[in-house]
Amino acid sequence: MPMRPNHVHCYLLEGAEGWTLVDTGLSLPEADEVFVGLARELRVARIAITHFHPDHVGGSAQARAATGAPVLQGELDYEQCVHVWGNPEWPQVIADWFLRNGVPPEVANELLEVGSAYALFIRYAADPEPLGRGDVVDGWEVVAVPGHADGHLGFVRDGVLVAGDHLLPTISPAVGLYPDSRPDPLGDYLDSLERTADLGLRVALPGHGEPIDDPSSRSRALIEHHRNRLDATAEALEGGPKTGFDVSFALFGAELAPAARRFAVAETLSHLERLVVEGRAARQGDGRVVTYTDS
Ligand SMILES: [Zn+2]
Repeated sequence: MPMRPNHVHCYLLEGAEGWTLVDTGLSLPEADEVFVGLARELRVARIAITHFHPDHVGGSAQARAATGAPVLQGELDYEQCVHVWGNPEWPQVIADWFLRNGVPPEVANELLEVGSAYALFIRYAADPEPLGRGDVVDGWEVVAVPGHADGHLGFVRDGVLVAGDHLLPTISPAVGLYPDSRPDPLGDYLDSLERTADLGLRVALPGHGEPIDDPSSRSRALIEHHRNRLDATAEALEGGPKTGFDVSFALFGAELAPAARRFAVAETLSHLERLVVEGRAARQGDGRVVTYTDS
């Protein structure tokens, strides 16, 4: 990929009915050639999407065109995919939302330019076949693992989890709060991690980085990480009302480029909203600026 992290893993799962391709990478010019070559070598029976982020769904229209295979995607995930990537108003919606959370205009509005650059890399397949928790895809059970994305799905068989970005080996998957999404994504994520830790997995195959050979320990380490971050977030609220932007400095430092700052604010907000749910913080807002206090 032309941005960090510099790669994404798409997985091919062999089954009785052919191969299942999980995730499709970004829509890059060379992707056509890759998918056409793949279709020549293997019978791709279907394409399954873990979640709608650009590096996972971006090439799904090309993959479908090249292989002739149907695309399977979670219903909520596809809804959000269209709402975000199929919506010319989205960059403005999200820029306004960052402004309400205290982000200065020069940082929030840079998104309007970056957003249109990103659109080049996303050609998602329209009208996929719906996929959901409990479905079985050629022997692989579909599990719901919301958090990194509201409709994130994983695929489990014989102790192997194809994890998308639900579990990553060296970095903590981003869990951000965004407009028009589920209200407590960090709560969702912590629940997903608890369930993942209890699946008795041997290995998890992540969207980025090396295979994870002890998924239960990794899940518990990520729970611990977020518990510590929640405490740090609560501490940062001492001394009066603060915006998500203010608190992001305590958690992520002062030196961030605009795009990284926006991710930091979204991640800070998922922690602040989790603290609200846990009764450790309160949200105030007049519709123009949203602030948080310790309660
Ligand atoms: Zn990813």
